[in-house]
Amino acid sequence: MTTYNLRLKAKSELTPHPTAQYWRKCQVEELFAMPFMELVFKAAQVHRENFDPQAIQLSTLLSIKTGGCPEECEYCPQSARYDTSLEKQVMMDVEEIIEKAKIAKARGASRFCMGAAWRGPKPKDIKAVSNIISEVKSLGLETCGTFGLLEEGMAEDLKKAGLDYYNHNLDTDPERYNKIVHTRNHDDRMDTLGKVRHAGLKVCCGGIVGMNETRSERAGLIASLANLDPQPESVPINQLIKVEGTPLENAEDLDWTEFVRTIAVARITMPKSYVRLSAGRTAMPEAMQTLCFMAGANSIFYGEKLLTTCNPGEDSDRLLMDKLDLYPLSYEPSEV
Ligand code: SF4
Repeated sequence: MTTYNLRLKAKSELTPHPTAQYWRKCQVEELFAMPFMELVFKAAQVHRENFDPQAIQLSTLLSIKTGGCPEECEYCPQSARYDTSLEKQVMMDVEEIIEKAKIAKARGASRFCMGAAWRGPKPKDIKAVSNIISEVKSLGLETCGTFGLLEEGMAEDLKKAGLDYYNHNLDTDPERYNKIVHTRNHDDRMDTLGKVRHAGLKVCCGGIVGMNETRSERAGLIASLANLDPQPESVPINQLIKVEGTPLENAEDLDWTEFVRTIAVARITMPKSYVRLSAGRTAMPEAMQTLCFMAGANSIFYGEKLLTTCNPGEDSDRLLMDKLDLYPLSYEPSEV
């Protein structure tokens, strides 16, 4: 009989970030290979041991500087190297961003995530986003930023401005990273994640599936996330949105069960992380999203838009949450 070598502890024994076991890729592959129902059931058990399964964390995402990115990431319509219909925009005005953050809060989001299409910010960009972060934080929202690779001292500056989370995804299996991203490598990502942790920021780090990877490569992605120590507080699992003009526009469809398996395996290997059902939800029927929640997803992007692609509107999300008796997790800032 297969053993899954899980070291799950009783709720009372859990520390905020227990040092996780090291996950070998083959162990994660074994989880993926479990009978579907058993896998979902096991993930649901882990979910219940660590969280209230009815609470869903809601994050609203805003692109504060869109397009024209010098990087070459095959999944991304914001790369200046691809001919997509995306219009390049300069940084949004602070007032406009604050207005969007107020609306997000009024609609029930607890976290406001801001993204800018840069390889990495310049010192002047850090100044500009620090100002924005302080303003958003003062509204009583958690803040998250995704601004690319960071240089020394930048993460500390963002932390001082009031940033709670920094998003920096590992994208795909480290072994195929350079097949998907051509202008930086996996170690560059790890370097920025180290800076983020060192500055005392929380980490939001996930990846994308449906980029023609094999199941074993999906397992490699999950293992690389689960082996971050401490594990990321937030783990967005994205399904590729195929955008015309990007090299992955004709990627093969991923079977929906495989996406649910990925969520379940993320839940089992990262028991205390918020696993976010992220991009690609517009193409997911309600029943599939429901199964993802059952398999341990407990966070969503909430709002009509992701950085540049569509997302289900708040109304349909609230309707689904009502049907499933799920409720939004509230955020109580310690000092605002
Ligand atoms: S994923 Fe980020 S770094 Fe890569 S092209 Fe898009 S905006 Fe630029």
